[in-house]
Amino acid sequence: KASERESMMLVTEFASSYYEKTLWESEQGKAIGLSYFKERGFSDQTIRTFALGYNPDSWDALTNAALEEGYQLEFLEKTGLTIVKDPREPGGETRKFDRFKGRVMFPIRSLSGRILGFGGRTLSSDKKVAKYLNSPESDIYHKSKVLYGIYLAKKAIAKEDVCYLVEGYTDVIQMHQSGIENVVASSGTALTPEQIRLIRRLTSNIVVLFDGDAAGLRASLRGIDLILEEGMNVRVCSFPEGEDPDSFARKNTREGIEAYLAENAQDFIQFKTTLLTREAANDPIKRAETIRDIVSSISRIPDRIKREVYIQECASLMNISEDVLFNTLAQMGRKQQ
Ligand code: ATP
Ligand code: MN
Ligand code: MN
Ligand code: MN
Repeated sequence: KASERESMMLVTEFASSYYEKTLWESEQGKAIGLSYFKERGFSDQTIRTFALGYNPDSWDALTNAALEEGYQLEFLEKTGLTIVKDPREPGGETRKFDRFKGRVMFPIRSLSGRILGFGGRTLSSDKKVAKYLNSPESDIYHKSKVLYGIYLAKKAIAKEDVCYLVEGYTDVIQMHQSGIENVVASSGTALTPEQIRLIRRLTSNIVVLFDGDAAGLRASLRGIDLILEEGMNVRVCSFPEGEDPDSFARKNTREGIEAYLAENAQDFIQFKTTLLTREAANDPIKRAETIRDIVSSISRIPDRIKREVYIQECASLMNISEDVLFNTLAQMGRKQQ
């Protein structure tokens, strides 16, 4: 099993160097992939640091290159780089397709830098085509356990003692290029306990940066309870309407980004309390729900003293007695420590 995983990683590493070579050296790669990254404002050095690449727009370019180098179809299929279709008729040829045909490629590395899988972005603006495609789950790629950018971010996370969590690949890359290197992305999935523990090995402080599109905001609030449960300190920061960390970082200097974060990052419980209280303003039923929702978040915090401090703070923010909140907390049945 270990040797099988190693064979899979040798294939992903071959694919990554093939994608890079294609991006920098082939006519199609340069004209389509490289110019795309440059239009997004990525420098040559950034493109190399993140090992960005390009999968040619042909049915089986990567697959054939790998087979010619002696890699086995079995591992190309197991890593999801190649999609294998059985022949329609007996004796017919097995059909093999590159999963990431015509996409620009973002290799996803483990904490120690091994390439486990890829995200591939389409360059087509056709809404029917998935914007990003990821490697499928496999023996080496478990999307719930990896964080994009962790290998390049780990030193800075430990040094700065804080980790910025963003939504996408390009957010990580653009912030890194701006000089803020302690950034990772969950890549479109809800944050999992395994991902949080990966960060917690390096720091107990997380700042979650939301895209300024509000769509994901309410959904993300739930996910953040998991971070509280792991005993971490959570701040959140949203961006102006229509901006994400990538577009914002592109328009600002490192100092400008840091100033924005310093000014706008807010303690998560405070943020949630203010947001929900405003929404529930004159509706008693909603207000009752809101109280339970906020106290439920607070109840996740393992440290009793922190819980009490938050209860006091929320009571004042919501203009409600502390007793009500403490009673609600007690009803929620967290074992007092
Ligand atoms: P870009 O700037 O290239 O448009 P983005 O990172 O801003 O990309 P978002 O729409 O904000 O894209 O999505 C955030 C993340 O969610 C992406 O980086 C990607 O990991 C994931 N994602 C987005 N769209 C899809 C999709 N259609 N299928 C799978 N994952 C997706
Ligand atoms: Mn988004
Ligand atoms: Mn985005
Ligand atoms: Mn974006």
